[in-house]
Amino acid sequence: PRVLLTGGSGFIATHVLEILLARGHSVVTTVRSEQKAQAILQSHPELQKDRLDCIIVKDIGQANAFDKAVVSEPPFDAVVHTASPYHFNAKDAKELLDPAIIGTTGILISVQKYAPSVNRVVVTSSFAAINNIYAQSKHKVYSEADWCPITEEQANDSPANAYRASKTFAERAAWDFMEKEKPSFDLTVINPPLVLGPIAHRLASLSALNTSNERIRDFITGASKSRCPPTGNYGYVDVRDLALAHVLAIEKPEAGGKRFFTVSSHFSNKEIAEIIGQEFPEFRDRLPTGEALAPGDYPADGVYDFDNSRSREILGLKFRTLKESVVDSVHSLLAVEPEI
Ligand code: NDP
Repeated sequence: PRVLLTGGSGFIATHVLEILLARGHSVVTTVRSEQKAQAILQSHPELQKDRLDCIIVKDIGQANAFDKAVVSEPPFDAVVHTASPYHFNAKDAKELLDPAIIGTTGILISVQKYAPSVNRVVVTSSFAAINNIYAQSKHKVYSEADWCPITEEQANDSPANAYRASKTFAERAAWDFMEKEKPSFDLTVINPPLVLGPIAHRLASLSALNTSNERIRDFITGASKSRCPPTGNYGYVDVRDLALAHVLAIEKPEAGGKRFFTVSSHFSNKEIAEIIGQEFPEFRDRLPTGEALAPGDYPADGVYDFDNSRSREILGLKFRTLKESVVDSVHSLLAVEPEI
């Protein structure tokens, strides 16, 4: 099968690309610049253009951005849409909402118009589109049945809310499109919580690290020594398991029309710090302890639970442990900056 992968320069997409190639798919991936295209092509000098190619899509927030990218010879069988901004620096919610929503609806519209051979589109959504941050309860078990209730007004309350809203509204727009347009392809949505694990994309320095691995970087640099950051959401998944979920989502017909809450298990920032302390004694002095570590613990009265049975049963996913994710993340960060 031939696959269009959007945002191929990203943390998660780099792993998706590797697994697609390893399983024999041919891939075209969208990137924002020629420089990023060259870096991806150079990481696979053994592959001809018919197995791996790049196409530039500068801004997914523009209407019709994907019109050219969805057309290929031979034509695509599937699309994996991962590109979407993930950061907490937005000054205005629109900075995240436009690329998320217009990007997601845009790729669906372009496929419908210009890529009739595509039979499955997979979209990377988030636990952010599931999690009800306004009414947490230790009795709650989150699953694909849940939706984040965030409103347009609340999107402007904080940069974190802008991100939550961008993922929630983009995913809703995708399902609404499917219901209204009834296109010839079907849709699968992947909803990961916090994604940890080794970085495989090329980074000049750790200051350009993707958002979800920043907490591990900040432990090993000592940036969190005086105060462990609060954990936020308490679910994680390893990037390698998540990437495989994206690929299985295009390979398994029965994944069509469904969301998959790809959560491995619980984690807290305190547990991450403890794993780093046990496995990397050279960083022990940089880690928070005692009072400084406490804010990274679970809430004293308990925390919500997760149901990942759909991902295990339909996709056949198995999940890596937190220890494996954290240890491999640290090794990959040290490979970028050995003198960290
Ligand atoms: P990255 O920041 O590494 O990847 C984001 C990708 O989107 C990059 O390829 C980036 O391009 C691209 N992108 C962002 N904005 C635009 C734009 N306006 N136009 C074109 N491309 C754009 O983060 P992740 O790999 O972690 O995120 C990938 C997906 O996974 C996102 O949809 C994110 O919401 C979702 N997700 C991530 C989680 C996590 O913990 N990491 C958790 C839940 C969901 P460039 O490289 O040029 O910046």
